[in-house]
Formats: sequence, structure tokens, C-alpha cells
Amino acid sequence: MINTLLIVEDEVQIRNMLVKHFEAEGFRVLTASDGQEALESFTRFGPNLVILDIMLPLLSGMEVLKKIRSLDNTPVIMLTARGEEIDKLLGLELGADDYMSKPFSPRELTARVRAVLRRSQGGEERIPSMIRGLKVDLLRQEISLNNEVLNLTTTEFKILALLSEHPGQVFSRLQILERIYGDIYEGYERTIDTHINNLRRKMEAAGDQEIKIKTVYGTGYKLLEEGNSHA
Ligand code: CA
Repeated sequence: MINTLLIVEDEVQIRNMLVKHFEAEGFRVLTASDGQEALESFTRFGPNLVILDIMLPLLSGMEVLKKIRSLDNTPVIMLTARGEEIDKLLGLELGADDYMSKPFSPRELTARVRAVLRRSQGGEERIPSMIRGLKVDLLRQEISLNNEVLNLTTTEFKILALLSEHPGQVFSRLQILERIYGDIYEGYERTIDTHINNLRRKMEAAGDQEIKIKTVYGTGYKLLEEGNSHA
């Protein structure tokens, strides 16, 4: 499997050096030179890993990381300048998988990239990340079903994006709450049911009979495509 890296770095020399290096190491490489471009490229191409500089024009690396993490678990390695210790900590808190301080050796960064990829791809059988007919546009916060854009609230969008990222995997109400709010909202687990019911209604209205959010009794919810053996 060829892994695709998204390298986000505004300093052209470092960026070019990394591109050359990682291409020679057998990766497919995408680049972005500012935070906005990074998010566009991320949502469009779905790279396997992001190398993300912190100091960037338009949107900082932290903002980009936050946005990525609100949506999925793609591994992110942050690049920090010397003296950005606080940013480093914040980056890890926000869910970065690792960081490298500049200046660094490309060889060391490669070792980190491979380690993080190994960890994230962990030998387990990979569930297909996309259900046919369902398209999630993270940047626009839009989900379309059979080419029809669903009219979703922010919470509904987050729930469906989460479930569709892991088709067939059961999420408890608490897990869904934690993933969409980043915190535990005890006592409000049942509000998820309302959101799920609204989602089902909207998905059915879009005319799809095959892609369904199933209730797993006593556990939670999962998304599956009927007739798909993986789900
Ligand atoms: Ca920079």
C-alpha cells in the first residue's frame, strides 16, 4: 500500500526538501503552503498522514489540527520551531500524534512517520472508510447521499460523519457525545436518540433505503449498508 502524505509548510525550502525526500522514500506526496489550502487538500484527497507546520499563513497549524480532529483521526505530526514548547503541548492535547522540532533530520522525521503509520494502521483489518453513495465533505460540512446534499444541523453532521468514518462499528451514545463535543455530557445521552431519529428521517427523505443507522440494542448505533458484508 502506498501511503499519501500531506506536507503543510510555508517555507518553500523545507517543503521542497521534504517532498524530494519522501518521494524518494516511496510515498505519494501532496503539499500545501497555508492552513486554508491544507484543509482543502485534506478534505479533497484524504491523505494517510499530515505533516503540519505550526506557524502558517491564513490558518495556524493548531487551527488546522483542531479542524482535522473534529472530523477524523488521520495521523498528524506537527513541526515546531525552537521555543514553541507550549504549542507542542497544546498540539498533543489537541490530538497530534507526534511532533518534531526544527531543525530536524529528514531521516528522523521519516522514522516518526513510519512509526505513526504503523500504529494507526495497526495490522487490523481495515474497514472501508467510505460507504457507497455517501459523501462527506469535511470542509463544507456537507454530507450528500446519492448526490443529494442533506440539510443537517452541525450536530447531525458530526454524528453522521463519525459513523460513516467507521462503517459497521458500534458507537455508544456516550462515545458519540464525547467525539462530537470533546467532553462528557452526563445525563444527556438520550439527546443523541433525537438527533439519530432526525438523521434517519432526512436520509430516508433523500430516497435511500440501503444506507441505514442501526440501533444496537443496549449498546448504541452503527451505520451500515445493507448487503455489504463488511458492514
Ligand atoms: Ca512556518
